[in-house]
Amino acid sequence: MSIEFERESQEATFYSPLEDFEQTTVETEVRVDPLTGRTARVVTDNFLVPDSPEIADEVLDSEGCFFCPGTVEEATPTYPDWVGPDRGKAGEATSFPNLNPYGAHSNVVALTEDHYVPIDEFTTDQFADGLCAALQYVRDVFDHDDDARYASVNMNYLRPAGSSLIHPHMQTLVDGRGTNEQRRVADAARAFYEEHDEVYWSELALDERGGDRYVAEIGNVHWLAPFAPKHHRHLVGVAAQIHSGVPDPRGDVAHDFVQGLVNVLQYYASVGLNSFNVALFLERDDPALPPLLNVTARSVFDEYYWSDATFFTSLHDEGVVDVAPEEYGKEAHTFF
Ligand SMILES: [Zn+2]
Repeated sequence: MSIEFERESQEATFYSPLEDFEQTTVETEVRVDPLTGRTARVVTDNFLVPDSPEIADEVLDSEGCFFCPGTVEEATPTYPDWVGPDRGKAGEATSFPNLNPYGAHSNVVALTEDHYVPIDEFTTDQFADGLCAALQYVRDVFDHDDDARYASVNMNYLRPAGSSLIHPHMQTLVDGRGTNEQRRVADAARAFYEEHDEVYWSELALDERGGDRYVAEIGNVHWLAPFAPKHHRHLVGVAAQIHSGVPDPRGDVAHDFVQGLVNVLQYYASVGLNSFNVALFLERDDPALPPLLNVTARSVFDEYYWSDATFFTSLHDEGVVDVAPEEYGKEAHTFF
């Protein structure tokens, strides 16, 4: 079976001041996500990256930070009794309940001992420990609460990505509802599984292997540039052969995910990016929905950065990217 990649070219015509008011035609491509039907637009030159971003020292100052060593073990909330320890600990990572929870079960993982880490300096060990702490929490919740079915491990890094704090941290959300995108992907993946008796991402990896959007295979995880990206330089890691919800916190799959994530961040840094979002989608024991790690770049953090979450993002849920996945998929491949 082959997956359908549907795209449409649209042309806009006008008299351009950049061409002495000659008639000019600009092409835009609209793409349809083969799984969910969500659309994305490839629009060249709509995302500016500053040559040398400047971040003032005081922005990076650790004064008063609750996630720095010495404070994170004292001033952060502690877990309810059923979780076990007051706070989770794995290497440099410390986990604790989110003081501003997003749902029934919501935690934070302070990822590093360093207050600020440039994105190409994160190590595999740091993310392995952080993901371990997050996955252990998800497992504890699934054991404790039968209604909890959807989980995600997320990260906003730096202000353009939505983080109010500089200190690197991840956030876990577990509940019975999931988010719009989680449900949309899960429902479509279940429908595909029922119709074809195959996991969508296993088929996708087979289809894409050898092409420009197939980035790499690291152990159990395929890395791909989605045909219809949700956001700038969207890359996805999927453990397509894993048929049950939450990976072993210290197992191969978790390790394969973080190895790829570090590679993605090295790639982002190489093209001048410094801010990103991560969302790992997990669902309790559903063979149609393997663990799926989404990573996107965000506006470059700079003194006068502007948001790349426009009305397309906040109100239309339409992906708008300037670089086609075939192009950045090939670039990312060299970092794997
Ligand atoms: Zn800090």
